[in-house]
Amino acid sequence: MVVIDLTENFAKIGEDVDFSGEYKLDDGLLPYPNAKLVRVKVHFHISYNKPNVKIEGVIGCVVQGYCDRCLEPINRQIDLPFCQIFYKDSSDEEDGYVYSESRLDATKAVCDEIVLSLPGSLLCKQDCKGLCPKCGTNLNQRQCDCDLSRENAFSVLKDLKF
Ligand SMILES: [Zn+2]
Ligand SMILES: [Zn+2]
Repeated sequence: MVVIDLTENFAKIGEDVDFSGEYKLDDGLLPYPNAKLVRVKVHFHISYNKPNVKIEGVIGCVVQGYCDRCLEPINRQIDLPFCQIFYKDSSDEEDGYVYSESRLDATKAVCDEIVLSLPGSLLCKQDCKGLCPKCGTNLNQRQCDCDLSRENAFSVLKDLKF
C-alpha cells in the first residue's frame, strides 16, 4: 500500500515536499511471462494546492525476468515518470484519484501507471539478436553456422538427392 501522510504538505501550501518509499506490489501488474516485480521504489515531489494534491516524480520498478528474445535472465530497474492530481474527496470530480483528510492512498494510481507505461516486451538490450531459430545459439554471444537465408521449401527440394 502506497500511503502518504499529508500533514507536512498541509503546513506548506504550494511547496514541494519530498517523499520516497519502497513497496512490494503484485507481480500480476507485469505484462511479462514468469517475471517478478521485486520492488517498487517511488520518489515523489508532493505539493498541496488547496484543495487538491499534485504528485510528480518517478516510479522505479525492479523487475526480474527473462529477455523476450534470447531468454537470458534479466534483473533491472525500469523508471516510469509519474504525474497525477488527487482531488479532495468532497469535490465533484468523478474520474480521477481522490484523497481524504491527511491520508492519501496512491496505490491504485501507482499500479495504473505501471500497467499503462511499462514497455510491452522485456529485452536484455534494445538490439538483442535473440536465439538462432535452428540451433538455439544465443546470437549475442556467438554466431552459429546455420544458413537461415535458405530456410524455405525450395532449398529443401534442392538438397534432395535424385
Ligand atoms: Zn536478449
Ligand atoms: Zn544456428
